[in-house]
Amino acid sequence: MSALFPDYRASWETDQHRELRRHAAEFFRREATPNQERWARNHQVDREFWNKLGDAGLLGLDLPEEFGGAGGDFGFSAVVAEELALAHDSASGWVVHSPIVAHYIDTYANAQQKQRWMPKIISGEAVLAIAMTEPGTGSDLQAVRTTAVRDGGDYVINGSKTFISNGTHCDLLVIVAKTDPAQGAAGISLIVAETNDQLQGFERGRVLEKVGQHGQDTRELFFSDMRVPVANLLGEQEGLGFYQLMEQLARERLAIASVCSGMAEAAVLEAIRYTKEREAFGKPLIGFQHNRFALAELKAEVLSIKTTVDYCVQSYIDGRNDPATASMAKLVAADKGVAVVDRCVQFFGGYGYMMEYPIGRAYAAARVNKIYGGTSEIMKEIISRSL
Ligand SMILES: Cc1cc2nc3c(=O)[nH]c(=O)nc-3n(C[C@H](O)[C@H](O)[C@H](O)COP(=O)(O)OP(=O)(O)OC[C@H]3O[C@@H](n4cnc5c(N)ncnc54)[C@H](O)[C@@H]3O)c2cc1C
Repeated sequence: MSALFPDYRASWETDQHRELRRHAAEFFRREATPNQERWARNHQVDREFWNKLGDAGLLGLDLPEEFGGAGGDFGFSAVVAEELALAHDSASGWVVHSPIVAHYIDTYANAQQKQRWMPKIISGEAVLAIAMTEPGTGSDLQAVRTTAVRDGGDYVINGSKTFISNGTHCDLLVIVAKTDPAQGAAGISLIVAETNDQLQGFERGRVLEKVGQHGQDTRELFFSDMRVPVANLLGEQEGLGFYQLMEQLARERLAIASVCSGMAEAAVLEAIRYTKEREAFGKPLIGFQHNRFALAELKAEVLSIKTTVDYCVQSYIDGRNDPATASMAKLVAADKGVAVVDRCVQFFGGYGYMMEYPIGRAYAAARVNKIYGGTSEIMKEIISRSL
């Protein structure tokens, strides 16, 4: 149920999705909202938060029931992504773990790999991360320089990655590496490293000082002659990595778009609440026509974001994994969402610029939505191929 649009219902939203929405909202407001400032100081969420997510059934929503998942459709992830943002959470790496990286395992892992990893992924015993970006390349994934060279039963991996979400807590890391550097995209493979203390040659670098999302453990990662069993390759053969990335990136973009939608709605709700409470010149801020009109515009903007994202989610649920549609969801939700949050800050005056207020944290956190998961420019590039 949307507090801003009480009668709103996405075309894909069933009673089960609504029930999950209530459950997720209650969970995040209890377990995440009160911890935002402490997690920001620690540059990470509590490790137990992941176990709590697992206990609450929020890590395997659209993963197979045989491993403890709920077997739902993508709408289950979209609902939780929105509720996370509506609860003003900008610290948890849930989006990376559950709707994104878990599906690389679900889609490309073989039966043995799934038996080993999937139950832990769903319970929260294993936290997931994906390492694509390198200091020298982000948008242009074909240019990654990390190498994985076969030596007996192992890959020997060398390279460095940056901006890796869940970099501190991750136990399973999907690494984008070149198994055949002579080839471009066709030389890329995805290899899962089990990043426990016994893994020689694996180093977690510094926690990065970001503009926002201070509670997220975003790090550099280094691999130097790091040995990972060949059995940890995702897919039946080497060289499928680029195709696998392209196939999964639509999910990633839709999940981020759902977060953007929730962030925009949360910001407008906060602004309405605040302008009713705060007085200037003898009346509440909302009493000034200028502010009412601005809020009216913002409410309409949020509806346009929600309906765009929901249309694209419906398309994905219907089986159309179309890169252009997912890119339109992300482009619209990120660009418009950042603009909505920015305008909402204004109603709060100086308080809007303080990190102790959810609106200030949202302002700092939102900006990256136009950058990660593929930048807005890359979204336009992908959409333009469908013209
Ligand atoms: C907080 C945060 C968390 C992240 N988490 C992860 C993670 O978990 N795992 C991971 O692998 N990565 C992660 N990233 C990395 C993120 O995905 C990249 O930053 C992003 O893809 C952009 O890559 P880049 O930073 O190298 O920028 P570049 O690719 O160098 O781009 C620089 C600028 O050039 C523009 N540009 C590039 N190519 C074109 C083109 N063809 N046409 C027009 N303009 C172009 C871009 O749009 C951008 O404006 C994260 C980043 C941040 C900030």
